[in-house]
Amino acid sequence: MSKHDDHFETRAIHSGRDFVGETGAVTPPVWLTSTFEYGNPNGFDYTRSGNPNFRLLERTIAELESAEFATVFGSGVSAITALVSTLKSGDVVVAEENIYGCTFRLFAQVFAKFGVSIEYLDFTEDATFDKIADFKPAIVWIESPTNPNLKIIDIQRAADAAHAANAPLVVDNTFSSSYLQRPLELGADLSLISLTKYTNGHSDALVGAICTNDAEWQEKMIFAQKALGLQPSPMDCWLTMRGAKTEAIRMERHSSNALAFATFLENETDAVIVRYPFLESHPQYEIAKKQMSGGSGIVTTDLGMSLEKTQRFLNGLKFFPKAESLGGVESLCCHPASMTHASVPKDRREAVGITDSLVRFSIGIEHIDDLIRDVREGLSNS
Ligand SMILES: *Cc1c(COP(=O)(O)O)cnc(C)c1O
Repeated sequence: MSKHDDHFETRAIHSGRDFVGETGAVTPPVWLTSTFEYGNPNGFDYTRSGNPNFRLLERTIAELESAEFATVFGSGVSAITALVSTLKSGDVVVAEENIYGCTFRLFAQVFAKFGVSIEYLDFTEDATFDKIADFKPAIVWIESPTNPNLKIIDIQRAADAAHAANAPLVVDNTFSSSYLQRPLELGADLSLISLTKYTNGHSDALVGAICTNDAEWQEKMIFAQKALGLQPSPMDCWLTMRGAKTEAIRMERHSSNALAFATFLENETDAVIVRYPFLESHPQYEIAKKQMSGGSGIVTTDLGMSLEKTQRFLNGLKFFPKAESLGGVESLCCHPASMTHASVPKDRREAVGITDSLVRFSIGIEHIDDLIRDVREGLSNS
């Protein structure tokens, strides 16, 4: 049990009802205001440095991640920017080699110019954990599951290794969701989430968050929110809070649908690879079971078809629009080589297993039989 007594489902619904004043509103409004009258009791001054909708969402996310603090940003990438902006020239980041494409791009094309360097390691290899300290990292950065290969990194072990090197561990928790995995409970210092995905869950807003138990880090994040102009919009925070209320039941369905979908691909198709954290065939199945309470909604597969055939198959699906992003109630499919990872050079892409025929499915909460039938028919027609 976490330090919060009430359960996740209850906290998701009952947190964040302040500031409604004398109206008794059960659902808080959207405070669409850029500025606040000087001297108000809650100390609001200008929305770039705080707004009631940010505070409500921040409290809710902190509750859900078992964190003391959460700070919200305009997107997951804004949250990444906020964290990296705390580094200085000469600092080294040690990161998992399969990190999110936009994180890779941000380090390579923006922060490298400011003298921050990054070393990529494979965190599923035992030897990696002994090497971390040699780099004297300012931060250790992992994701679990990773995108799109769904590698599972042992968060507790990564935290121990980072701490032995006197560095904080950042975990990008986006693919798992706060319901299925809470990095701070596993020893991480910072949990980063693109709330755009599972927390919002309805593909209608972009928001990001950083969670921590460390007051100093929290202060740095609040500073970055206002000083770098990384704040979200009050409307997007409101939509994301509404989404968070159903996160638990959505994640249960995402996980059961995705497990059934992955099992179908593995047993009934010619797929060469089927990756899903809760399939026994997953190389880190035991670690996934240890640190996640469900496998989440992403299934990655290599269907062993040519580039043309893969694209023809994806274009023919009825319930899987080809789109970036994930974590919404609707299923989507993604072809990483031509979409999310197009910004990663082809040789680097293939070095981390992103081949031309790799497909990532974001499994929604539709009826599983319809999703499987769609793919079964699509495969026999292509
Ligand atoms: C989408 C995503 C991000 C970036 O979030 P945005 O809200 O799109 O800016 C970061 N990390 C992971 C793992 C993601 O999937």
